[in-house]
Amino acid sequence: SVPLAFFSGIGRASRYGILFKGGAAIEALSKVKAAALDKTGTLTTGNFAIQEIKPADGFSPNDLLYFCASAEQASSHPLALSIIKNAQEENITLAAAAQINELSGKGIECIIDNKKITVGNINLMQENNIHIPFVETVTTVYTAIDGIYAGSILLTDELKANARATIDRLHKYDISTAILTGDAEKNTVLLAKKLGIKNIFAKLLPTEKLSALQKIRQNDGAVMFVGDGINDAPVLANANVGCAMGSGADAAIEAADVVFMTSKIEAVADALQIAYTTNNIAI
Ligand code: ADP
Ligand code: MG
Repeated sequence: SVPLAFFSGIGRASRYGILFKGGAAIEALSKVKAAALDKTGTLTTGNFAIQEIKPADGFSPNDLLYFCASAEQASSHPLALSIIKNAQEENITLAAAAQINELSGKGIECIIDNKKITVGNINLMQENNIHIPFVETVTTVYTAIDGIYAGSILLTDELKANARATIDRLHKYDISTAILTGDAEKNTVLLAKKLGIKNIFAKLLPTEKLSALQKIRQNDGAVMFVGDGINDAPVLANANVGCAMGSGADAAIEAADVVFMTSKIEAVADALQIAYTTNNIAI
């Protein structure tokens, strides 16, 4: 039978915008020793500001934005939304893409104006043998046209309000913290420093997020994962407790044990606090 405390836990959680998919999730959460957090859209707002547009020789900034943003219309990734918004602000009329292939944790392939467009990160470019003259160390979306490099768009993201306070609360609960991201190293290290997170796994492919999770579990014990992307679904399913941001992809929400019906990062610490109270664990 299910103890009554679980129902009061679920009731309290709903007032915080936290949805536990059953009492077992509350109990499992009360036992986690580590929190692995996705970066983009979880710790950061997902609003990227464009820092620099670097077209390759023979292309204008607007050519680059046209092909890149047109391709990105097929994606719901935060990077895609920011690039499309920028193209619209520049009054660039975007084209409809055909034969769209969204590659989780990498980018987009499609056909625009009879040309094969490849838009995404360095892994995607290298896989397609696209020569990149200069590999950036910050968050970068590369574009290639018919296999030829057409330029880079450099972006920066911002931490969510209360991200630092939330990490402090997790540490107070004796939970170790780690960032798991497909993003570039330098940007991630900077953000981690601001947050007081020492354990950083950057430039991860979706499958590598799984092995990072394994590593954390081996070192620290039961681990919760918090993420929002389609590429996060396997890790959410594999974590001892998978938590999805409600603002994220449907696949993430489906794979999760706990859903935050808010984009506020405090929900991570609030969920733990509710789990401790429900299970009579002193904190
Ligand atoms: P994070 O783990 O930070 O949430 P994701 O795993 O969602 O990031 O994506 C990993 C990386 O894949 C991104 O940092 C980006 O380099 C690349 N990527 C994914 N989708 C896209 C896209 N639509 N356009 C460009 N790059 C993308
Ligand atoms: Mg994400």
